[in-house]
Amino acid sequence: MTVDIASLIRAIPDYPKPGIMFRDVTTLMGDAAGLRETIHQMAEPYHNIGIEAVAGIEARGFILGGAIADRLGTGFVPIRKKGKLPYKAIGQDYELEYGTDIIEMHEDAVHPGEKVLLIDDLIATGGTAAAAVKLLRRLEAEIIGAAFVVDLPFLQGAAKLRADGIACHTLVEFEGE
Ligand code: AMP
Repeated sequence: MTVDIASLIRAIPDYPKPGIMFRDVTTLMGDAAGLRETIHQMAEPYHNIGIEAVAGIEARGFILGGAIADRLGTGFVPIRKKGKLPYKAIGQDYELEYGTDIIEMHEDAVHPGEKVLLIDDLIATGGTAAAAVKLLRRLEAEIIGAAFVVDLPFLQGAAKLRADGIACHTLVEFEGE
């Protein structure tokens, strides 16, 4: 039986605030067949093309990224919220709806020319992923692609990332509500 990934993602209206339809992937990750199929489909385009590291964005990108790194036979690089990494880190701010936030990477987490795959659970406006791309580029990584379970195309994040030269792989799309 095939797994319907979209139907395993729970929609929570008005979370974290009115007007937002939150796409909750914990229900997908909690389903054994759903998790396996998600990891399989996310990793699929990247076998045997020389990916050397998988970088995942805190926190759901860690769960998916760790499993994808294992599938691809690479190491895993965490991209974290500010102040969480113990060693010397570089930071990048990005826009939120109100104000800005900062994500960080260890300065030695990737080496120049390293072929990296970027992972998160969902791309909305693309601000978080664009900040991760900036960090990876500052460390001179070669970003081979970015993969997400969910794309919200009406927010244009994946389109912006593609316009910035990053090939995006997404599994399911939801329209706005
Ligand atoms: P953005 O920077 O706008 O692309 O937002 C992407 C990040 O925010 C991802 O790490 C998502 O987990 C989270 N996010 C944004 N919008 C949603 C949503 N509607 N449902 C679930 N997560 C979201």
